[in-house]
Amino acid sequence: MIIVMKLNSTKEQIEKVVNRVEELGFKAHISAGKERTIIGIIGDERTLPIQTIEFIEGVERIVPILQPFKLASRDFQPDNTIIKIGNVEIGSNEIVIIAGPCAVESREQLLNTAMAVKKSGAMLLRGGAFKPRSSPYSFQGLGEAGLELLAEAREKTGLPFVTEVISPSDVELVSKYSDVLQIGARNMQNFALLHEVGKSNHPVLLKRGLMSTIQELLMSAEYILSNGNYKVILCERGIRTFETASRNTLDINAVPIIKKLSHLPVIVDPSHATGYKYLVPAASKASIACGADGLIIEVHSEPEKALCDGSQSLNPADFDELMPEVRRVAEAVGRKIL
Ligand code: PEP
Ligand code: MN
Repeated sequence: MIIVMKLNSTKEQIEKVVNRVEELGFKAHISAGKERTIIGIIGDERTLPIQTIEFIEGVERIVPILQPFKLASRDFQPDNTIIKIGNVEIGSNEIVIIAGPCAVESREQLLNTAMAVKKSGAMLLRGGAFKPRSSPYSFQGLGEAGLELLAEAREKTGLPFVTEVISPSDVELVSKYSDVLQIGARNMQNFALLHEVGKSNHPVLLKRGLMSTIQELLMSAEYILSNGNYKVILCERGIRTFETASRNTLDINAVPIIKKLSHLPVIVDPSHATGYKYLVPAASKASIACGADGLIIEVHSEPEKALCDGSQSLNPADFDELMPEVRRVAEAVGRKIL
């Protein structure tokens, strides 16, 4: 961290800053220029209470050098984290494709969809049993009955599954059934929930909040990591912007930015990022081309009958057509899809 003093700040003001820094247990390195003095702080700046320095008279601004996240940062771990789920690796050279309905609606719907996506080459199944709906009057999911159906679909297809957990008190129940715990966009900053999944041993798929910055996403990951769970997969799922032609705006930059800042795997959800099935193939291919480690795509056996997110759900035939296209893009950028 660097403290930039105002032009012509006094010797007393500089001394006051240095004394405060030293009182807090840090070392101060003074660099006195002709007009301006800069004070370098030596020590882990993340633990320094900035507010006790920034208002000292003579201080112009404080410039942090380290990222506020630690365990999630590439400085802390230069090599990519690879997370194993059964035979699938997320974060290695392999691209993972997760597919399935937005919500588990019935046995027939789930099994038909699961078998179709498996046949087309998906490696993991998705499906919500606890749904975080914007309206309390919308379908809220089947709860534990939905988890049982997901477990049955796993048995029939061999596909491990990802499902959302929306309450800290459900983490144990959802973990009993699922292979990966999903934290949805609306809960990205539900710190009690992050704590609870941080104490679990299950991989966590953490989705970016609707209005969250990349830094906030990484700070939320930090909550999970700092509670002892290092198996975190990040997911860019579009953010809210002024654009109304799509449901959200896919922040494609987020993928290489997160890759630069963090060692954690990053996947993209082209379904929620766009909101329309006609946009899903383009968003999927662009995501793989720019370095994503995988995709989570909504597929429904009969999208026109879906209780949730039908407009953005591919039908099995669309998904089957998309898979080889994604594979070609993956190969073009030196990745592979098993
Ligand atoms: C979902 O995956 O179905 C979902 C609700 O996604 P998000 O949290 O990204 O809106
Ligand atoms: Mn959905």
